[in-house]
Amino acid sequence: MNLRIGIGFDSHEFQEGKPLILGGVRIEFPKGLKGHSDGDALLHAITDALLGALGEPDIGELFPDKDPRWKDADSKVFLLEALRRMEQRGYRIVNLDCVIVADQPRISPYKESIRKSLSELLRVPQESISIKGKSREGFCMDDGLACLCTILLIYEG
Ligand code: MG
Repeated sequence: MNLRIGIGFDSHEFQEGKPLILGGVRIEFPKGLKGHSDGDALLHAITDALLGALGEPDIGELFPDKDPRWKDADSKVFLLEALRRMEQRGYRIVNLDCVIVADQPRISPYKESIRKSLSELLRVPQESISIKGKSREGFCMDDGLACLCTILLIYEG
């Protein structure tokens, strides 16, 4: 059996006047996530998990935040490049498990739309995607959020 596992983590501070996007889904909240790109920390964590599983360079190496090409970039671009590398290597996704750590906004009302968005982006069934919202409970600072992802790939040749 040829399996590979990857882990991804990302955190961003909140920023006024920017839309909040997580997993490609627009979330109703007065602040977005600071960052060179659109700040979609969930897509960044998934992209890094995918790249990590493949042993490829990480998201910061492939898409440096000093590079003006990625200014305000749609983070789907990063994910699609990681997927392209995965397919080129003959792997497909078995499942992924994600955690969004945030006191605000509440993630539960958006869980299903995020799963649907990820299912379309990654071309895997929704049953293979888990999204969990966790409150911070004293962990780290209040003015932002963090995302974690583990992903399992299988070689199909
Ligand atoms: Mg990021």
